[in-house]
Amino acid sequence: MEPQPSLQRSVAETVKLLINGRFVDSKTTEWQGVVNPATQEVLAAVPFATDAEIEAAIASAKEAFKTWRFTPLAARARIMLKFQALVRQHMSRIAQTLSAEQGKTFADAEGDVFRGLEVVEHACSIGSLQLGEFAENVARGVDTYTIHQPIGVCAGISPFNFPAMIPLWMFPMAIVCGNTFVLKPSEQDPLTPMLLAELALEAGIPPGVLNIIHGGKRAVDAICTHPDIVAISFVGSTAVGTHVYNLGSQHGKRVQAMMGAKNHAVVMPDANKEKSLNALVGATFGAAGQRCMATSVTVLVGEAQRWIPDIVAKAKTLKVNAGMEKGVDLGPVISKNAKHRILDLIEEGAREGATLELDGRPIRVAGFEKGNFIGPTIFSGVTPRMKIYTTEIFGPVMVILGVQTLKDAIDLVNDNPFGNGTAIFTQSGAAARRFQSEIDVGQVGINVPIPVPVPFFSFTGSRGSKLGDLGPYGKQVIQFYTQTKTVTARWFDDSTLSGGVNTTISLK
Ligand code: NAD
Repeated sequence: MEPQPSLQRSVAETVKLLINGRFVDSKTTEWQGVVNPATQEVLAAVPFATDAEIEAAIASAKEAFKTWRFTPLAARARIMLKFQALVRQHMSRIAQTLSAEQGKTFADAEGDVFRGLEVVEHACSIGSLQLGEFAENVARGVDTYTIHQPIGVCAGISPFNFPAMIPLWMFPMAIVCGNTFVLKPSEQDPLTPMLLAELALEAGIPPGVLNIIHGGKRAVDAICTHPDIVAISFVGSTAVGTHVYNLGSQHGKRVQAMMGAKNHAVVMPDANKEKSLNALVGATFGAAGQRCMATSVTVLVGEAQRWIPDIVAKAKTLKVNAGMEKGVDLGPVISKNAKHRILDLIEEGAREGATLELDGRPIRVAGFEKGNFIGPTIFSGVTPRMKIYTTEIFGPVMVILGVQTLKDAIDLVNDNPFGNGTAIFTQSGAAARRFQSEIDVGQVGINVPIPVPVPFFSFTGSRGSKLGDLGPYGKQVIQFYTQTKTVTARWFDDSTLSGGVNTTISLK
């Protein structure tokens, strides 16, 4: 979203930039409000950094790399140990800020911080993660080994829906590998990443190693084209991710783009009905459907198609309210724009002939009448050509399709343009095994509705959900943030000094 120039620095708090270890005021004239989605209160004003400020952030990262790259592994790990302790200590404060600017429930906001914290914990093991390989005697007296060296100034561009977890996917792993970093968080909820940055500095990350700029397309395009940035980690929508991937790649950068989704939950008739439907309803409507791993499509197989009234009944029990209220299950969506977009898609679904089983549009939340609320909404009778099926709605909307067999379900999932996450609910090992084998999707759950991998494994994706080979955490990210160098070495001593001139490629 482009800035609203009308909003000047009239609100109390202005979000700072982090350049060369200092939190600085931007000199820009472009500001945007950070708005509480439940109340419309403007919490702060976020600057769209000037070109000179973006340049300064990248320059400070470039300078810091000269020394940071040689910092001993254990020293880097120790900073991450301290950082993880600080994030843990301040979890509640971070989650409150997160809930206020993003809208999700306090419990889910803590989950957002915690899933990011797990990546920081993993970063503490860098001593065993960044190891190379060694083979003795690849030829007589010759050894070969690999070293994984840091690559330089890396950048991260993050989305609004996980303002703690996704920045924490990015800068800790990049930095602990010996790189320096420029983060461009979502302009819609930048306060949480700034809290994390404060703690990162307190943990001992030196000036210039972590920098933060704010902005929209102009800042993103500057990152994609700047000659001093070597790698970009992007998480966000498919349209923007594809742009970042293409522009960054054209400018010689290593790019990973984790993008949009339409995650199918396949429910077999032999599934444990109560547990499966609970899981399904929670995973569809939690975070108001604004998760890249939300199960937004329910595929009922065979007899399971009779369960629609049970799903609707469960969805009706969910409490919609402001994120900090007691007993709340889902909060508002991020912005008025997002709400209108979702309402338009619901309208379109009804127009295209899907059956609106539950309509969340008329919802009113007492005390928060201005909030961007949409109640759980369910469509049945959806077909693969409908817009509500082909488009990522990113709101509390479930679309239900019916199929006859597991094969039909697998074909349906594999034909969808996205391949981020999926889940099967069944008590049959054979069905689950076939599903896991034949499905073309990055994350697969078996009776697990949101199978976001723990950080020892890598987050992946297929088709419209991912560009680039390597994932944002797990073992893959070490490869992403390092350059493998392969060294072949021979040490001459008297016994090897024989054989004369070698004009062949053989290691004689
Ligand atoms: P978005 O693509 O609108 O924004 C992502 C980032 O790109 C932000 O920092 C934003 O400032 C920037 N941006 C926005 N418009 C731009 C433009 N025209 N040119 C250049 N940069 C631009 O995404 P969002 O709405 O913040 O987040 C929701 C999306 O992220 C959903 O599609 C969701 O599925 C996806 N997501 C994916 C994953 C994953 O791991 N696959 C995880 C979380 C979110």
